[in-house]
Amino acid sequence: MKVIVLGAGVIGVTSAYFLARAGHQVVVLEKNIDAGLGCSHANGGQLSYSHIETWAARGSLPSMMKAAILPSSFLTISDLTNRKFLSWLCEFYKNSSSQKSQENSRKLFRLAAYSKKLLEEIIDENTDLKFDYKNRGILHFYRDQKNFDAAIKEIEFRNSIGCKAQILSAEECLKKEPTLVKLFDEKKLVGGIFYDADASGNSFLFIKALEKICREKYGVVFEFETDVRNILTNHKKITGINTSKGVFIANKYVYALGAYGCKFLNGIGIDSKIYPLKGYSLSIAADSEFIAPNLALTDPENKIVYSRLGNIFRAAGTVEACGLRGNQNKKHIEFLKNSARRTFSDFGNFNEIEEWCGFRPFRPNSIPLICEVKKYGNLFLNSGHGSLGWTLSAASGKILSDLVSDNPDKKFEFLEEEL
Ligand SMILES: Cc1cc2nc3c(=O)[nH]c(=O)nc-3n(C[C@H](O)[C@H](O)[C@H](O)COP(=O)(O)OP(=O)(O)OC[C@H]3O[C@@H](n4cnc5c(N)ncnc54)[C@H](O)[C@@H]3O)c2cc1C
Repeated sequence: MKVIVLGAGVIGVTSAYFLARAGHQVVVLEKNIDAGLGCSHANGGQLSYSHIETWAARGSLPSMMKAAILPSSFLTISDLTNRKFLSWLCEFYKNSSSQKSQENSRKLFRLAAYSKKLLEEIIDENTDLKFDYKNRGILHFYRDQKNFDAAIKEIEFRNSIGCKAQILSAEECLKKEPTLVKLFDEKKLVGGIFYDADASGNSFLFIKALEKICREKYGVVFEFETDVRNILTNHKKITGINTSKGVFIANKYVYALGAYGCKFLNGIGIDSKIYPLKGYSLSIAADSEFIAPNLALTDPENKIVYSRLGNIFRAAGTVEACGLRGNQNKKHIEFLKNSARRTFSDFGNFNEIEEWCGFRPFRPNSIPLICEVKKYGNLFLNSGHGSLGWTLSAASGKILSDLVSDNPDKKFEFLEEEL
């Protein structure tokens, strides 16, 4: 069967991989000159299978509003006059009860555990797939005893769903990651939680390597510089994709445009509830001059992740709700730089930092849309992965491919949506 995938981010490319492996003839349409230049390009690199708490949780809306008015914080909001954003915030609030957020975390954990298994299978099957993968766990470190105690309390729930965590003292954190010595010496490190099952890797290198495998091993066609303009329908099914290079036709269509293409879905009567939440990253060369942290780290209090991706050290995080405005807000870059300065005694050459921003395709409940659109029958969605798209990519590609192949995986029926 011929399948067209819209978008060559980490979700589009993993979808193409599993579809092609299942025997489909796959064409990927991408507006950029290359794959992986959207949100998947310079993300935090963390495969945080255990980082399953949803952003919507008890107390998260008031604390976000407080952060939004502080002069220096991880969050800025400049889209409060946008009705779509306001209705997204209402949905976010509805998903913030303890019961809802635990329900959603359980779903995320099932997806994450499956993703870990599938990524390991992809690595085993394709020995030439190199993306600075490191399977050594992630350490969440804390400066504030109250926050640390709250995180320890959460472990009980995590353990109950099979998500393993280990509580570490400040000394044990230092042993795991010696560059935390600055915080330790300043008596600002109270302890940490180590997630052994977690990993890290460069998602852009992964996409490029998987794209090559898709082309060379499975005959997938990538149509770059092909801008999707709208989705054509006869009201019963999708009849084609109108692009800057003409109309492309297939039997089935997979939507994987991340945060960018919601207007196309709205145009055919689908409300994806995806809002673009912009985030930022800094990448810096980790050479012999700069002893960068080796272990993947998460600073939950500042909502920043630090990863060592080969000879790149990356800090990523912050949230800007500004619609799809692409310009860089220096406040966010400064927040990342200052947090890194306050955490590590060495952060390499600040003058040679690569600054980047991307739009997380965020749903209010943090659960991605991986489903068939019943009213069309030949349209499938794989989008809305928020802050976990890299982590969930392998599972998302496989679940999607099973749906397209009319062989849905019953374990993931909870992803079905009435659209
Ligand atoms: C700062 C930051 C840090 C992050 N850190 C992590 C992390 O550590 N771990 C993790 O798991 N996740 C992380 N994420 C989230 C993760 O990067 C995203 O969830 C993921 O990249 C989404 O992938 P995607 O393929 O859906 O979207 P994208 O990568 O954005 O892909 C969509 C593709 O569609 C293309 N496209 C858009 N419009 C059109 C059009 N009209 N025509 C044709 N093509 C089009 C785009 O060019 C793009 O290539 C982070 C995100 C940010 C911003």
